[in-house]
Amino acid sequence: MDMEQGAELTEFREEARTWLQESVPRQARPRTSGPELRAFDEHWQRLQYDGGWAGIAWDRAYGGRGLSLLQQIIWYEELVRAGAPGAGVFGVAFAHAGPTLIARGSERQQQYYLPRILRGETPWSQGFSEPEAGSDLAALRCRGVVDGDDLVVTGAKIWTTYAEHSDYGELLVRTDPAAGRHGGMTWVIMDMHLPGIDIRPIMSMDGWPHNCEVFYDDVRVPLANVVGGVGDGWAVAMSTLAAERGPGFLDVRLARVVFVDELVQHARDTGKLADEAVYAELAELRAAAAALRSMAYYQVSATVPGQVPGPETTAVRTFFSRSRAGRSTSSAISSASACSGCRDEPAAVPGPGGDGRRGAYVPGRGAAAGPGAGAGRPRRDWRGHLAPVRRARLARAGAERAVRRARRRPGRGGHGLP
Ligand SMILES: Cc1cc2nc3c(=O)[nH]c(=O)nc-3n(C[C@H](O)[C@H](O)[C@H](O)COP(=O)(O)OP(=O)(O)OC[C@H]3O[C@@H](n4cnc5c(N)ncnc54)[C@H](O)[C@@H]3O)c2cc1C
Repeated sequence: MDMEQGAELTEFREEARTWLQESVPRQARPRTSGPELRAFDEHWQRLQYDGGWAGIAWDRAYGGRGLSLLQQIIWYEELVRAGAPGAGVFGVAFAHAGPTLIARGSERQQQYYLPRILRGETPWSQGFSEPEAGSDLAALRCRGVVDGDDLVVTGAKIWTTYAEHSDYGELLVRTDPAAGRHGGMTWVIMDMHLPGIDIRPIMSMDGWPHNCEVFYDDVRVPLANVVGGVGDGWAVAMSTLAAERGPGFLDVRLARVVFVDELVQHARDTGKLADEAVYAELAELRAAAAALRSMAYYQVSATVPGQVPGPETTAVRTFFSRSRAGRSTSSAISSASACSGCRDEPAAVPGPGGDGRRGAYVPGRGAAAGPGAGAGRPRRDWRGHLAPVRRARLARAGAERAVRRARRRPGRGGHGLP
């Protein structure tokens, strides 16, 4: 597949590039857990929507552009090249909640939730993992009991990213414990503002409290919010995970490809490429990045619009995680960035977007983040450029206060379908 073929695609790329040059926010995404983080992401998402750049491959009926997945890829590439912020608190909504609703939701659910995602109004979170059900998702125990027109949910979830900012959650619960490990589960749209929900942030090593424990205590959610059907949750969850590992993860992969290109260019500009060891290291990285890019194109050419891809997405995800283009590339970065004036500085490894700009799963993995950040002196990024650093230590109590503030924002949420 030739990305540059055809005047229409070239024109689309040019149009995207021009819009991004003019529109990418100049200020950095706030490094905080307070409401200003959500406000920043909302503003950026709304800008994209108003500019006609939200949901490029989503149906026009839901406010998308109805264009091809190839154009979606071009948009992601340009987004990354422009150093634009990522989806942030909208990561789950775009990467897998939205695609799950498109593939499995009812017409009514699609009409209600999808436009709100595109307009940057309703962040989502993912409530799959539990303390005893991480890799082994089929071990989940969070209960859902049908009672009249409601599902009554009781249990605990863990690692729920951005739960404190989300209006809705894709929640997987066990509705029939007798139906076997993969049976008797239900995928339900949880209104995260309902009474009985307690969100407790977990402080991470890098000072970000965005992975949360969430406790559900007799939370009544309307049965109208069930996606698929009561008992069909495992199949719906497989669609969610396929989207998460497939198209929903394209931007992260493309960000890595662009990052490797930049690293190679930097080594070339600084003469480091003449060093055989650096050359070999970067060549290996570059080859893995090229493979990632090819896989992205393959996936796009094999995906039927409106459908979620199959289990092959797991292979791509595994390649990404294991390949040197996907893992921390600290040694190559250190070699390539050992430029005059920064030899004694440990190079900070950027996240998949190079500056924490991509994806809800990499909050704050910026050049200035990570252990050691906030030592009260300027720190250098991988190019050796000075990067401003903010102290990244937030007390748990402080984080919880911020969560309460975020949740007190007026006019948020809603109760199931209108
Ligand atoms: C940054 C981040 C954000 C996340 N956000 C979310 C979120 O928003 N919502 C959500 O639901 N989840 C989220 N998760 C959870 C994630 O998707 C996994 O479910 C979870 O990390 C795995 O569970 P665990 O941590 O309990 O590890 P475990 O399942 O206990 O696994 C620990 C180790 O044992 C290995 N292992 C486990 N079982 C086997 C086996 N049978 N054979 C061989 N090896 C095995 C694993 O590979 C791993 O190395 C997030 C995780 C991370 C890191």
